[in-house]
Amino acid sequence: MKEGIHPEYNTAVVKCACGETFETGSTKKELRVEICSKCHPFFTGKQKFVDTGGRVDRFKKKYGLE
Ligand SMILES: [Zn+2]
Repeated sequence: MKEGIHPEYNTAVVKCACGETFETGSTKKELRVEICSKCHPFFTGKQKFVDTGGRVDRFKKKYGLE
């Protein structure tokens, strides 16, 4: 059995407060963030948008981001 080449670097599941999840490299296995590329105003280009659940889905549909 071969250990990882980078034993301290795993694939972490990042869970955002908006409900989005994605994977990233990290020394941790799970991360929780309050903002991500899906809801960060820099990426959306809209006003600050931090919410959970339904409003995000409606936002996505409204702007065709899904
Ligand atoms: Zn988010």
